[in-house]
Amino acid sequence: MRNLIIVGSGPAGYTAAVYAARANLEPLVFEGSVTAGGALMNTTEVENFPGFRDGIMGPDLMEQMRAQAERFGAELVRDDVTAMELSGDIKTVTDGEGNIHRAHAVILAMGSAYRELGLEDEKRLSGHGVSWCATCDGAFFRDKDIAVVGGGDSAVEEATFLTRFGKTVTMIHRRDELRASKIMAERAAANDKISFAWNSEVVGIHGDAKLESLTLRDTVTGATRDLEASGLFVAIGHIPRSELVVGQVDLDGEGYVLTQGRSTKTNLEGVFACGDLVDHTYRQAITAAGSGCSAALDAERWLADKV
Ligand code: FAD
Repeated sequence: MRNLIIVGSGPAGYTAAVYAARANLEPLVFEGSVTAGGALMNTTEVENFPGFRDGIMGPDLMEQMRAQAERFGAELVRDDVTAMELSGDIKTVTDGEGNIHRAHAVILAMGSAYRELGLEDEKRLSGHGVSWCATCDGAFFRDKDIAVVGGGDSAVEEATFLTRFGKTVTMIHRRDELRASKIMAERAAANDKISFAWNSEVVGIHGDAKLESLTLRDTVTGATRDLEASGLFVAIGHIPRSELVVGQVDLDGEGYVLTQGRSTKTNLEGVFACGDLVDHTYRQAITAAGSGCSAALDAERWLADKV
């Protein structure tokens, strides 16, 4: 019987592990098998995580966090959680080999996946021109031609933010008008740097070491054309990884775990959630780490009262 199991190994899960381990809770952390280390394992340089004046490579940052959690006694397991039973006093977590682990408290830190276009070369050029986060990577594209795929509010937000850096920003959308709210759509239309590729979808991503151009297909005529771009920001949505807790933990309409007020408490006693799994808004490594810290402190206090 454990005090605490943490599911997830991004900045949220590892930070929760550091705090919980330092509080002598001896947490068991499931890191995932293929995706251990979380979203930053897929990127190159991270320039906005405080403490690294010259930036740090995403995988190096995650290795540091992992080692820090291990140093204080967290038990880290590179395996997937395949099932969880969270409603009773004793929570059970099933690993990839079918072993069942028991704990008084569980922290959910499974993150959220960025929706991908599903194109060949998208992954290969991720961090080399292809990005899912303007706040993270916009500054790498000063005076460059940038494309943004998507037509919702977040695509417009990304495109507008990117006009601070880019020479041009082309919004690529499958339809002939944006899905974004009227005010956001008007803001984009009024921005001189933003132009629109209507009725268009990206069908090819090209470049050797770095992104150089895209192939667009007209969704009405089927005609294709090339668009030069040094940056491609994919803004077609996120998928919070809450599938294992559907029906147990309260989720919002998009599948993000709901937490109470400023805490990380879910609707279930002893179950806490943090990081991008709960966050529509900020989705940054530092905010995920911050909420991982909160989750560990919430869990520690809950355990002190209840167990
Ligand atoms: P994640 O990092 O997504 O980690 C969750 C992890 O939990 C998963 O990867 C997996 O290993 C594990 N997991 C999930 N399900 C299970 C399961 N069932 N069993 C076991 N383990 C499981 N942010 C910045 O601040 N600066 C940047 O420069 C930056 N660049 C980025 C570049 C890219 C390409 C991407 C994709 C994101 C970037 N971000 C950046 C955003 C940042 O990575 C996320 O906000 C942050 O990683 C979220 O942390 P998290 O711990 O909530 O989730």
